[in-house]
Amino acid sequence: MSAKLIDGKVISEFFRVEYKLRVDRLIERGVRPGLAVVIVGNDPASQVYVRNKARACESVGMHSEVHALAATTSQDELVAFIEKLNANPAIHGILVQLPLPKGLDDRAVIEAIHPDKDVDGFHYANMGALVIDESRYPPCTPFGVMKMLEYENVRVEGKHVVIVGRSNIVGKPQAMLMLKAGGTVTVCHSKTDNLPRFTRDADILVAAVGRPCMITGSMIKPGAVVIDVGINRLPDGKLVGDVDFESAKKVASAITPVPGGVGPMTITMLLGNTLHAAELKAGLVESARDTMLA
Ligand code: NDP
Repeated sequence: MSAKLIDGKVISEFFRVEYKLRVDRLIERGVRPGLAVVIVGNDPASQVYVRNKARACESVGMHSEVHALAATTSQDELVAFIEKLNANPAIHGILVQLPLPKGLDDRAVIEAIHPDKDVDGFHYANMGALVIDESRYPPCTPFGVMKMLEYENVRVEGKHVVIVGRSNIVGKPQAMLMLKAGGTVTVCHSKTDNLPRFTRDADILVAAVGRPCMITGSMIKPGAVVIDVGINRLPDGKLVGDVDFESAKKVASAITPVPGGVGPMTITMLLGNTLHAAELKAGLVESARDTMLA
């Protein structure tokens, strides 16, 4: 068997076409959705991510601003900067590129973003809303995974979903979204004993670990849907996921590639969340986002 490829670039494009129409509708009402991306310091990888996010905004007609602050920026200066963005009516979403340089407190900075503009969905208020199924801004990567499954008509309801990784930005919010969609969810992590015992029972397997090719074909149930969130750069510069693609594709029924799988969806969901923030502000939609997948 060779698995069907779940192409994140194609699915992203599908959503972006819809977003563009919604942006146009807002512009007709005099509102251009705006995203401010704040980056502190000069980490080259982060600068590439930030530029990609800004470009993606422009591709659907949204306004974007990149604020590159010096590595010497203090916590107080950064918080004061975010407060100005909180008060700026042209900005509907604020994203601070993480991790911040040493000496700055990621969590305190996230809490400085107004929850209405927290399009990454990491503020306590938005994380709490996610847990009680009232999320306005589901974190972009796990939300992108749900949208990929929806696009591919993969039913989550009744399925055993195994997530490897329990980070606050991927594994945990992914578990919440899968639960909401009716999955029976197992979350594995570095302390899990006998990981293959769980992965081999997964109907839907999500790998979000950060270890190159650690999930091999022999750890996958025949016919499972495999979603590879991991992005790992090998010494030769090649990008690979957490799943060993070559052995996994012989066992799975569908699989995401790396690159070109979950990555493009993450940026697209950021656009979706920013657009949703602008629509909320304009009174065009009610509060929760449609994250249901039955
Ligand atoms: P974290 O490092 O925050 O979390 C990794 C998780 O993997 C932890 O929960 C850890 O367990 C678990 N883990 C580590 N080793 C093992 C192991 N041997 N067996 C089982 N579980 C293990 O990473 P992130 O969640 O931030 O990111 C995960 C991956 O996804 C990375 O490769 C990252 O680059 C990528 N990523 C991709 C995105 C995209 O857009 N495609 C967006 C965000 C991340 P424990 O909690 O016990 O330490």
